[in-house]
Amino acid sequence: MFKKILIANRGEIACRVIKTCRKMGIKTVAVYSDADRNAMHVEMADEAVHIGESPSAKSYLQIERIVKACKQTGAEAVHPGYGFLSENKAFQEALAKAKIIFIGPDAHAIEAMGDKITSKKLAAKAGVSTVPGYMGIIADVSEAKKIAKQVGYPVMLKASAGGGGKGMRIARSESEVEEGFLRSQSEAKSSFGDDRMFIEKYIEEPRHIEIQVIADRHDNTLYLNERECSIQRRHQKVIEEAPSPFLDAKTRKAMGEQAVQLAKAVKYVSAGTVEFIVDTKRNFYFLEMNTRLQVEHPVTELITGLDLVELMIRVAYGEKLPFKQKDVKINGWALESRVYAEDPYRNFLPSTGRLVRYVPPAESKNVRVDTGVQEGGEISVFYDPMIAKLCSWGKDRKEATAHMRAALDSYYIRGVSHNIPFLASVLGKKRFEDGNLSTNFIAEEYPEGFSDKDLPAKDPTTLVAVAAVVHNAYQQRAAGISGQIPGHGRKVPPEWIVVAYGADGKEEEFSVTMSPEMIGGEGGAVTATARVGKKTVTIESNWTLGAALLVAKVNGKAMTVQVEKRPVGYRLAHAGAQMDVGVYTARQAELARLMPHKPAPDMSKYLLSPMPGLLVSLAVKEGQAVKSGETLAVVEAMKMENVLKAERDGTVKKIRQNAGDSLAVDQMILEFA
Ligand code: ADP
Repeated sequence: MFKKILIANRGEIACRVIKTCRKMGIKTVAVYSDADRNAMHVEMADEAVHIGESPSAKSYLQIERIVKACKQTGAEAVHPGYGFLSENKAFQEALAKAKIIFIGPDAHAIEAMGDKITSKKLAAKAGVSTVPGYMGIIADVSEAKKIAKQVGYPVMLKASAGGGGKGMRIARSESEVEEGFLRSQSEAKSSFGDDRMFIEKYIEEPRHIEIQVIADRHDNTLYLNERECSIQRRHQKVIEEAPSPFLDAKTRKAMGEQAVQLAKAVKYVSAGTVEFIVDTKRNFYFLEMNTRLQVEHPVTELITGLDLVELMIRVAYGEKLPFKQKDVKINGWALESRVYAEDPYRNFLPSTGRLVRYVPPAESKNVRVDTGVQEGGEISVFYDPMIAKLCSWGKDRKEATAHMRAALDSYYIRGVSHNIPFLASVLGKKRFEDGNLSTNFIAEEYPEGFSDKDLPAKDPTTLVAVAAVVHNAYQQRAAGISGQIPGHGRKVPPEWIVVAYGADGKEEEFSVTMSPEMIGGEGGAVTATARVGKKTVTIESNWTLGAALLVAKVNGKAMTVQVEKRPVGYRLAHAGAQMDVGVYTARQAELARLMPHKPAPDMSKYLLSPMPGLLVSLAVKEGQAVKSGETLAVVEAMKMENVLKAERDGTVKKIRQNAGDSLAVDQMILEFA
């Protein structure tokens, strides 16, 4: 077996590969950029080589430096992970020249599958079902219109070089072809330097279901069943699962066998994924083949018990696959949620910064966390803002979902915005529970984007009781400290007024009576019965003062609440929902009611920057009247240009920033009359 492997990647996937190498007794070499000097993958590897500046073009995409790092450390093979150089022909050629083994398929397979038109033709020839359409290059809009008509609306306009959902548009009419074709073409040109376009039928209510394949150099090509990845936002996967709740054994076998046929047709070795879309009648059509390890591979590992990275390494070394098709089983159900540093409340804007507190859920046979960051680490502007992949396993889909929801509740992240409220919301939807999925799920279930309204309607009673219990415990400690001289201690009152502050500035008051036998405090168990209005809530927990998670039995049911002590009161989070509360004695509450309230300023008169970035241009002048929908300014952030438009008609009163200025989040750009 190899003695030393270099991992030409970063983040969670580099850490994932290192874990398997360790298990196999193989030494590891990490590579890193300036920004990743203190990253987790660097810490985990046996050796690490600095390969350049923070932008990936100047480090993780530097072929020569990575080859040099191999030579310098004596690494015999390279695992590329996904993204970066994982599907790059020049990289493979450079490695081959230096006699270093690439842990992945051969260059010819990557090349054949790297182009959507070529791969579709190849698939059709290999007897694989493909999406009806036109497999040629379309020269211009008029040809596009002609072909769209032949294919039949709706159609999908696609860039042959496309990836990551870019250069792709649905067109439901001739005018949409006219509009979409040029836009997709120019997007493809700027993203891939290649503007070849083709057209295929748009499959309505599609599901994205993909087949994992693995092949060795001894003519064994097997399929490891499917993953369903229909929960997508803008063609990007968010939640994946295995098996698919939609496939029957017959369809699974047919898809698996076609995937194997295709892999054999391109003499594929290593792990790969054949993606299909499946219509409502279980007809399936080939989309593309990804010639690398997929982000979502853990769900396959969880139901098959296989280690895909280990198999890739063994196959690359020349070993035979140690099992046959009949040995591949489906055991239970697995889900994966992609935890991103992005703000679901602000249209999923990427968030960057330091992970001030970061406590992932504990791993067990039911929970797996693939992460590349740790507390104190940074989510930087340079790379993908994925924090972790949270996976769950259960004996069936229901159990796997329950484990996922509980794990999300106990995932504690502070310092950057994250999408956990959104993930919790998706998993809580009836339609998700029913397994009634399609790639339109998110667009249909969140037509106006994500907001608190999408969280399960909450009965505040439980969180109010938790707040009172937590506060009571803090007060008991305070009383205990001041009560060191017997007889001088303060008595903790058994009654609290809990004020819940709503996001809209509304306040709701609850009166809570604690049972006198409440025990709690430092290091001790908290057991309390709180009467909130007419309801009684019994909380049993071994929560200790200051702990971020209160893991409890509430009226006998397991529940995890995140507890954050704030300068005044607490912030509690559960099931994606968040609640800020103040806990007062009757007298404190009485006085608090007398405090003057500062009315929230009317922000509708201002255009604020929704993100930190650079003000590229201003489209308006002072005194100018603007109509709703008109462009006001362009802000560049995370390498993307964001166009800010007027929400309603108005007149620009004052411009506060100039083009070229750096903007903080919520910084005022201009003011309306
Ligand atoms: P990319 O390489 O950019 O990821 P894919 O071809 O894999 O592009 O497609 C990404 C997603 O777009 C699919 O998962 C599917 O949801 C959707 N999609 C692609 N082609 C079609 C089609 N013909 N009809 C319906 N949906 C499609």
